Amino acid sequence: KKPKAIISVHLYGMPYKVDEVHKIAKAYNIPVLEDSAEALGSTYNSIKCGTFGDISILSFNGNKIITTSGGGALVTKDIKIKEKAVFLATQARDQAVEYLHSSIGYNYRLSNVLAGIGRGQMEVLDDRVAARRANYEHYKNSFRNIEEIKFVDEPEGYYSNRWLSCILTPSEEIREGIRTSLDALNIETRPLWKPMHQQPIFKDAPKYLNGVSDDLFKKGLCLPSGSNLTDIELNRVTSAIKTYFRAWLKNYYKTYQINMLQSG
Ligand SMILES: *Cc1c(COP(=O)(O)O)cnc(C)c1O
Repeated sequence: KKPKAIISVHLYGMPYKVDEVHKIAKAYNIPVLEDSAEALGSTYNSIKCGTFGDISILSFNGNKIITTSGGGALVTKDIKIKEKAVFLATQARDQAVEYLHSSIGYNYRLSNVLAGIGRGQMEVLDDRVAARRANYEHYKNSFRNIEEIKFVDEPEGYYSNRWLSCILTPSEEIREGIRTSLDALNIETRPLWKPMHQQPIFKDAPKYLNGVSDDLFKKGLCLPSGSNLTDIELNRVTSAIKTYFRAWLKNYYKTYQINMLQSG
């Protein structure tokens, strides 16, 4: 039984394996819903994310790289899909003078005021991407001597807007150690997205797992990533993480020495 669609997500702004996913989709004739909510401004082989799917979506929610406070956009090259989406999003009104409905629709319009904000925001998109990428470089550079902290670099042809800067730690224990010690300093960080199969609502849904998403969920952490972070704020985050690792290493070697003594 074929899936109805493939929902592929450019996570945290990093393009997914576009060629691989779309090759499978094409071979089996499965439509792709490209979730580009986090990847406006990212590119794959110089092509913009948000243009690969049969239908692609963008989000302009408050936490995204540009925002209209709420709302989003749907992107498609198929005029029929576009017309149907607009029809459904505008209460499914049939062609008639009176309000005539032969199907159920929704009120999903972005208001003209928010659209106006969005057009203004488009002009600062490049600046926002540059700021987010600078955050990532700042973190990467600050942690270059901490081998326990890993980053996901851009493979050849991938350009990420670095919506959020994420790190991988060696274990859930260390991830939580970092998170709680930052939280005590009023610095908010979060684990990576909880995998869909771990969501209670999907507990009975079929799943095909290889452990990668569960592992990332245990070890990954999203660091503060706002476009307006100052160097002082970034340094406050990085020095807190360095302090955590200094304590962790000290403790590690203490335990190591004790173990060595005990085993002679
Ligand atoms: C934010 C987000 C959405 C939802 O966007 P809304 O505009 O809040 O509906 C969907 N997918 C991903 C990956 C997102 O990050």
